[in-house]
Amino acid sequence: MRNLFLIIFILSFNACKPSADGEISFANNPVVAHRGAWKSSNLPENSIASLKQAIQLNCVGSEFDVRMTADSVLIVTHDEDYNDLLVQETTYEDLAKFKLSNGEVLPTLKDYILAGMENNIGTGLVCEIKPTNNKELNFKIAENIIALVKELKAEPYIHSYISFGYDILKKITELDPLAKTQYLGSTKTPQQLKDDGISGLDYYMDAFKKNPDWIKSAKDLGLSLNAWTVDKQDDMDWLLANEFDFITTDEPYLLFARIKASPVSKGYQLVWSDEFNYNGKPDSANWGYDYGFIANREDQYYTDSLKNARVEDGHLIIETHKEEIPNKDYNNPDLLKKSWMKYAAERKTAVYTSARLTTKNLASWKYGRIEISAKLPRGVGLWPAIWMLGGNRNEVGWPECGEIDIMEHVGFDPDSIFGTIHTKAYNHMKGTQKGKKIFIDQPYDSFNVFALEWTPEKMDFLLNDTVYNQILNEHKTTDEWPFDQKFYLIMNTAVGGMLGGKKGIDDSVFPQQMRVDYVRVYQLK
Ligand code: MG
Repeated sequence: MRNLFLIIFILSFNACKPSADGEISFANNPVVAHRGAWKSSNLPENSIASLKQAIQLNCVGSEFDVRMTADSVLIVTHDEDYNDLLVQETTYEDLAKFKLSNGEVLPTLKDYILAGMENNIGTGLVCEIKPTNNKELNFKIAENIIALVKELKAEPYIHSYISFGYDILKKITELDPLAKTQYLGSTKTPQQLKDDGISGLDYYMDAFKKNPDWIKSAKDLGLSLNAWTVDKQDDMDWLLANEFDFITTDEPYLLFARIKASPVSKGYQLVWSDEFNYNGKPDSANWGYDYGFIANREDQYYTDSLKNARVEDGHLIIETHKEEIPNKDYNNPDLLKKSWMKYAAERKTAVYTSARLTTKNLASWKYGRIEISAKLPRGVGLWPAIWMLGGNRNEVGWPECGEIDIMEHVGFDPDSIFGTIHTKAYNHMKGTQKGKKIFIDQPYDSFNVFALEWTPEKMDFLLNDTVYNQILNEHKTTDEWPFDQKFYLIMNTAVGGMLGGKKGIDDSVFPQQMRVDYVRVYQLK
């Protein structure tokens, strides 16, 4: 009996062990090393050493470029010339007289694939086929590649074939209907690719920013999504938020770090966002405005003019000006009756203009991660805020509806931001609000990420992934925790007022901008 168990154990152990004859399952991450993982070790691009490094890192894919020599040898190299010799017009023997910078011999595709089949359990080969301007030659190259892969029994190791040559990919599909293909050209719609039997998009990152609807339609059509060549943290974060299947990068270490930090890795799913990748008025499907004087004896007058709120350079800009503007509520009898709004009816003109955008009646959420990347306006008297109000405000009023201040900043305290809740039991009228402040290094010169993570049990306030304030649900009444309902978002810059104006207003600082790179709302899956 004992021996039988031992035999079963040995058999099953062997079954799991990767062998050299096609046992590979691609790693569960989106990292495709662009021309191998060459950068951190200073290796030549498209070298076998850089492929081995990508395998070592367990990237899901390692990309490389294939060309054919005058004597029909498939080689791995990027440019159409190699050491000033045109690849297409030179024999392999002549090209191979020149070594790569690490002493490696110019790799043939055969040697490259064989190296990729050694000690590799997770990294697929992403084979870019470089087109020539000779269509027949392109087909010949495609045929030779497929024949070589077959001969080496390397099919399971090939992650995908990618190319700027659309005909090349169609040819590959014809030769091997099971092969995965991704088009690099960045111009065709997902539907066109689907119709032509191409299995994915591997587009220049900006093509997705210009055509964000392609992301959803590619997913709906079952096409894979890949973007090149993504080396900046912000771009990686955006692609990860949108759950791209693959991200092609020269910076695999950075990408692995961003995957770890991504809300998606914590189980969140993007449910709403504005990336501000357009120009002009903020998208009216997402944003409305508040107008005039609002509250808190603030001195700014809110407008919806482009001067005060517009989208430009990939950012929402809320711009605050010192300028005189007539007050439409001057002598408004309804306001004169309300002690806290009387000031808004007593002024004939306003002397500052700004904007306050809100998702009220357009979008609101109960629980989730609300994340905003922003650069703040500077100067004593300015009071920018990114915050939320409870959806039942019109029925129950403030503070009963609840308020969540994700980011509040006052110009006279330039090194801090605040994260605070206000409720009936805890609010600033009674001095019982629950808030904390945190040191912020460069609120004006760089973008910082302000976030709220909100569940039925607690709220975490984060600055650049550091939790600095936590509010627990005490499970008493809605006086303490009115946060089991939908809240809408508000972004504004106020001038003066009860808090922002405590130390006066520095009129020399205007105009001032709050720049918002994106707003993303995630909820747990
Ligand atoms: Mg390439």
